[in-house]
Amino acid sequence: MTAPSVFLPGSTIGLMGSGQLGRMFALEARKMGYRIHTFSPDRDTPTGQIADKEFCAPYEEEAAVRSFAAGLDVLTFEFENVPVQSVAWAAEHCTVRPAGSVLHTCQHRLREKEFLRKAGLPIADFAPVSSEADLRAGVQSTGLPAVLKTAAFGYDGKGQKLLRPGADLAAAWLDFQGQPAVLEAWVPFEREISVIVARSATGQTRTYPVCENVHTHHILDVTLAPAPLHESIAKAAASLAIRAAESLELVGVLAVEMFLLPEGRILINELAPRPHNSGHFSFDASVTSQFEQQLRAVCGLPLGSTGSLRPAAMANLLGDLWTNGEPDWVAAAALPEVKIHLYGKASPRPGRKMGHLVAFGPTVEAAADLVREARRRLNREGA
Ligand code: AMP
Repeated sequence: MTAPSVFLPGSTIGLMGSGQLGRMFALEARKMGYRIHTFSPDRDTPTGQIADKEFCAPYEEEAAVRSFAAGLDVLTFEFENVPVQSVAWAAEHCTVRPAGSVLHTCQHRLREKEFLRKAGLPIADFAPVSSEADLRAGVQSTGLPAVLKTAAFGYDGKGQKLLRPGADLAAAWLDFQGQPAVLEAWVPFEREISVIVARSATGQTRTYPVCENVHTHHILDVTLAPAPLHESIAKAAASLAIRAAESLELVGVLAVEMFLLPEGRILINELAPRPHNSGHFSFDASVTSQFEQQLRAVCGLPLGSTGSLRPAAMANLLGDLWTNGEPDWVAAAALPEVKIHLYGKASPRPGRKMGHLVAFGPTVEAAADLVREARRRLNREGA
């Protein structure tokens, strides 16, 4: 077997996608002396503001994808919904990590669940749904309540419908307008947790401390790192994440979102083959951030330590915070244990991720109190 390719500082890395995950990746890449090119349909993007070059074209435009890839040493991604055909075009010009097959699995809920089941990893009961009859049959196996989710392009709870006992299944299916979907048994979880795992080109793996994630309206609100959990549960969660990364033969970073049940059982909810919002704490609070780890993995370098510098908590800043004008940055900056991250997005729409805060503390609970206090101070109404 030939040794995997290594791309040294000075090489040019391409990134498909141009949001905040790419921005933080680009910041780390620049810190280590790499060049960054980004590709997406948008201009003046969070990643483009940091990159050496910003390519602006639809992902489906073959000539644009090929000319972008021809100028790269290695290509990676900041979101998984890039068409697999575009990845295949790029792969004719440069190394692609993680492989297009990983994106293919993770960009479709049904393929992802079938992959997880085949790999022997624990997930909630599910049924594929492409007709009202499938939905009726699915409900027989999952029971109600259950969650109907579109198979493709779902994120932050978009394309999801909770079906309660007695739900009108015909009306629910009509809402999906014939889009292929997955019906998932309702999981009465105690907490939501996640593990970020990195896997290098030589198969080395490292996990970050397990995070606890609190969601509001299906969007991540606050992450505690490390999650205050019994060590045996943290170990079990880390080992599931490693098994998922190995089964995917991933080279890069994988976020594994999980449900923790009251009796200590863990079920995997979903995978994202890239850095993840729940790993943002690592940018300030870990020896090696999830973004530097992605860089190391895709460039064929050994992985860095995932050790924590301090207990930390992260709070997302959504566009809603701008409702009463510019948030009070001075008030938040007056808390010296709080870091402010903003993504350079021009229009603060409600629900849009504009930035995040990270706070440190002697304990993770103290860090969580501080990060919430900092975010409260940003709000001019003090709500
Ligand atoms: P997802 O987009 O699949 O990550 O779902 C977004 C959020 O909806 C999750 O973080 C959970 O809070 C909730 N959720 C999704 N699926 C289920 C389920 N099967 N049972 C209970 N809650 C769920």
